[in-house]
Amino acid sequence: MSDPRASAAPQPDGSHPRMTEAAALPGRPRGGVIGGPATDRAVNVLAPNPSAMTLDGTNTWIVAEPDSGLAVVIDPGPLDETHLARVVETAAQAGKRVALTLLTHGHPDHAEGAARFAELTGTKVRALDPALRLGDEGLAPGDVITTGGLELRVVPTPGHTADSLCFHLPADRAVLTGDTVLGRGTTVVAHPDGRLGDYLDSLRRLRSLTVDDGVRTVLPGHGPVLDDAQGAVEFYLAHRASRLAQVETAVEDGYTTPSEVVAHVYADVDRSLWPAAELSVRAQLDYLEEHGLIW
Ligand SMILES: [Zn+2]
Repeated sequence: MSDPRASAAPQPDGSHPRMTEAAALPGRPRGGVIGGPATDRAVNVLAPNPSAMTLDGTNTWIVAEPDSGLAVVIDPGPLDETHLARVVETAAQAGKRVALTLLTHGHPDHAEGAARFAELTGTKVRALDPALRLGDEGLAPGDVITTGGLELRVVPTPGHTADSLCFHLPADRAVLTGDTVLGRGTTVVAHPDGRLGDYLDSLRRLRSLTVDDGVRTVLPGHGPVLDDAQGAVEFYLAHRASRLAQVETAVEDGYTTPSEVVAHVYADVDRSLWPAAELSVRAQLDYLEEHGLIW
């Protein structure tokens, strides 16, 4: 397994020519195979929605205790009947019935198919955002899901969006990260809903899961599984600090509007990703202003 930082190390000049804010880079996946079993309890069904923003497509996760007939599905993905049917079928082939649907956040590539999936499976949908729920139960930080003997702990990780959650799967020393940490590249802080200060706090919370709770594996919402969770989170923190310094310098150098900052700081990134990069830049400008670093 390659080092998660290997394909994205800062260059001598501090730039990240192979990184994007939105998603990934050209270049080999730094983790393992996408699709199929990832840990003892988690199986990935890859949705057929690849793009610059969604990498290989959305990872829909089926999570279950090995000896239980009940499974939890995290992020059914886009509204694609074939994909949703494959998720149900994959669980059934493993002798499991889907008993609960969870969402990491409300972006359509994760959540658009949730209502239809709930209909197909007769399940409730639990999410942080009440607008996404089906049924009477939400999800709150600290909640523990215990379906079929499984233990999934809800970890609040706002930043990519305000409603982003991760799910800690202690038995597999794994964390399901949605879009908070991706299998390659880095994620967008989706201003104005996503806020950089929140995102940095969330990354620190994930780092503490790796340092204090022994989490080793990242099961991301897009891209391959990462076997060095702590390395991945440290890399994300370093990348954010580096980008923030670049944005601060760009402002000091007279690049004032978000689009000017993007053209300057993200010159190395494919232009198709600049709209996403601009969201991250706006989030970074807000952060710098709030901390009195620019005005
Ligand atoms: Zn998202």
